[in-house]
Amino acid sequence: MNYRKSMMPNKDGELVIGGVKASDLRAKFGTPLYVMDVEFIKAVCRAFKDTINNSYEGFGGVAFASKSFSCKAIYTIMKSLDMNIDVVSAGEIYTALSSGFDISKAYFHGNNKLISELEYAVDNNIGVVVIDNIEEIDILNEICAKKRVVQKVNIRTNPGVEAHTHSYIQTAKIDSKFGFSIENGDAMVAIKSILNRKNLHLNGVNCHIGSQIFDSNAFRLAVDVMTDFILEIDRETGYKVEELNMGGGFGVHYTENDPKFTLDDYCNYIKIIAMAIKDATATKGLHRLKLMVEPGRSIVGEAGVTLYSVGNIRDIKGIKKYICIDGGMFDNIRPALYQAEYEAVIATKCFAKAEETVAIAGKCCESGDIIIDKIDLPVAKRGDLIAVFTTGAYGYSMASNYNRNAIPPVVMVEDGKADYAVKPQTFEDIVRNDDIPYFLK
Ligand SMILES: *Cc1c(COP(=O)(O)O)cnc(C)c1O
Repeated sequence: MNYRKSMMPNKDGELVIGGVKASDLRAKFGTPLYVMDVEFIKAVCRAFKDTINNSYEGFGGVAFASKSFSCKAIYTIMKSLDMNIDVVSAGEIYTALSSGFDISKAYFHGNNKLISELEYAVDNNIGVVVIDNIEEIDILNEICAKKRVVQKVNIRTNPGVEAHTHSYIQTAKIDSKFGFSIENGDAMVAIKSILNRKNLHLNGVNCHIGSQIFDSNAFRLAVDVMTDFILEIDRETGYKVEELNMGGGFGVHYTENDPKFTLDDYCNYIKIIAMAIKDATATKGLHRLKLMVEPGRSIVGEAGVTLYSVGNIRDIKGIKKYICIDGGMFDNIRPALYQAEYEAVIATKCFAKAEETVAIAGKCCESGDIIIDKIDLPVAKRGDLIAVFTTGAYGYSMASNYNRNAIPPVVMVEDGKADYAVKPQTFEDIVRNDDIPYFLK
């Protein structure tokens, strides 16, 4: 088990998160429960920013990709740390604004931003719109012309670098719904089109080569392609883009199949990117570029633990034993969606020896609702408290009310304190927007 500094068993073998015992969290907030360790989130953000300061003379920044975990409290944390953010919908923009986050520090991504979303973003002074599609150039320019503003934009390019990861979460192949291909010339066409628009100011170029990437060579290669492209823009148009945004996708530790990562290892991705850009600047005669990165998973992933209570146990003798929990695919869709894997413990018996191999099954009416297919655990019984690790990214943010289960609350912990970041849904919340069509009444 890869215990983290602020998430360790105490001497009795009980998991303590941010100074709060798992059993105390259950007693106060119930299960299923998302627990977010604020110390971890802050430590990663600070370390990432320090890395840009130390390896790139502070000429750049870190944008938290908030699709990985979006709620008011996380934007409050990002504001307190002077972070940039990524947003991908008007809903995320609204959430950020509701927490007092200044979205002039936000990048707005998306392969099909709605006209209403672009208008909303521009009205609220969005920092950078990341253009993802050729039609978006005219749509956004027109919106900005009407409002008499000049909008900073980046373009999302596709450097054609394949990061080795699960194919469903690869986005940088030529066959992708995201961005402009550099290789086939689409990206240059888009650049020239943007430079011709009065109400758009070209700020930078983006790429995002995938998710859960461990191979830093993928980033080196992408930097090489991107810096060549920036030089080509300069040669063909005389325009010097200011910023290179290398996206996110830094891999995190889910199970023992993944490297055990320290904070330094995480920062290494950024260091490698910074070094590669500096190298390119020196060897290719490139102008100085501002460096942005957009990590999501690596900031919040390992900060999250989901607590569940064990209910029924289904022992199919000689075949499989299912430990059924009170959560499932409605709070964590990743195993069903990506065959994602997780580690877990019985939170009050962290030191107990594993005695059997079991599956941890969710409560939804789908055979695919399995959170962990195969895990060695001490013998679990009804009422035991299960902690599943590294659920902070794409857990709560992908939650649904499938089977009309309530989306579990999110509790943040820090220094022995614990409080709601997202309160529990009530039955009333679940039916809040239901209506009966007049012709059925
Ligand atoms: C999803 C996404 C990210 C964040 O990816 P992580 O794997 O969570 O780090 C960053 N940039 C863009 C454009 C994305 O789509």
